[in-house]
Amino acid sequence: MKPAQFDYARPKTVEEACGILAADMDARVLAGGQTLVPMLAMRLSRPSVLVDITRIAGLQGIACSDDTVEIGAVTRQAAALASEVIRAEVPLLAKALRHVGHPPTRCRGTVGGSVAHGDPSAEIPLAVTVLGAEIVFVGEDGEEERFAPEDFFIGPMLTTAPMGGLLTRLVFPRRAAAPTGTGFREVASRRSDYAFASAGAQVVLNADGTCAEARLGIGSVGDTPVAVDISGLSGTRLTAQDIRGAVVEALSDLETVDDLHATASYRKRAAVRLAELALAEARDDALEQAG
Ligand SMILES: Cc1cc2nc3c(=O)[nH]c(=O)nc-3n(C[C@H](O)[C@H](O)[C@H](O)COP(=O)(O)OP(=O)(O)OC[C@H]3O[C@@H](n4cnc5c(N)ncnc54)[C@H](O)[C@@H]3O)c2cc1C
Repeated sequence: MKPAQFDYARPKTVEEACGILAADMDARVLAGGQTLVPMLAMRLSRPSVLVDITRIAGLQGIACSDDTVEIGAVTRQAAALASEVIRAEVPLLAKALRHVGHPPTRCRGTVGGSVAHGDPSAEIPLAVTVLGAEIVFVGEDGEEERFAPEDFFIGPMLTTAPMGGLLTRLVFPRRAAAPTGTGFREVASRRSDYAFASAGAQVVLNADGTCAEARLGIGSVGDTPVAVDISGLSGTRLTAQDIRGAVVEALSDLETVDDLHATASYRKRAAVRLAELALAEARDDALEQAG
């Protein structure tokens, strides 16, 4: 099948892009095209105009401040994966990126495109959710609007992105100075395919080796990635029993879905096991840093 006819625009500034999007409700942003182009080819999307944002200089790059790492929306997934800054300061995202598609799709796919699309099986939205990164849009009035992940991802491929808005950057918190370990695990039918279930974790240790903070998120099992309250691990030594007990309790209410790939009950069991493995990996990573 071939796409339906569309116009093409390649604005040079965010303002110009927002102007085109505001003027036409059927205009669509084109970033890496790794999701949108197949949708066009299958005529699941029939935009009047594609607004190619990849030449807008202000949407590229990775910048570090005292507390945050900001990633421009059209930063390619491959560039983010290769970034020393992301590996050092947002290590969970670096681990998640290894599972996103394949080298050719990562060379084109953008970090912002994955978040804007809002696939519940996608790894970048899961890392955004675990770490509580801010999702920044510019609307048609030129004003910035910031979203927390839990307010942004509301259903499968469904977000609260403002109409005619452009996702411009993601703002991640920098890792703590204290030993900070991360773990990312998923099950998929083939390496780098979309996962049936996935878990991302980050732990920070106190000077005495106990857990100061633990974060956990589960992806690919329901309508959106979910952050899980795992605060029961604080103060523990993160033994296998500590982790198992906290995970089983925290995921007891986790809602999972059936589809062609896996049953809801398989997903529930996989989520528990992957969460345990991700937390254990994060603990070991942090202990190695603590020496
Ligand atoms: C073979 C294959 C395997 C893949 N496997 C995985 C995988 O395992 N895990 C995974 O997470 N992904 C996977 N993907 C998808 C890939 O990661 C895409 O890159 C990603 O989903 C979309 O990013 P993109 O830059 O290509 O966006 P596009 O395809 O250009 O856009 C996607 C959607 O987001 C909108 N959009 C894009 N950027 C913005 C913006 N800045 N502001 C507002 N709206 C915007 C577009 O209008 C469109 O609706 C795979 C893709 C392929 C082709």
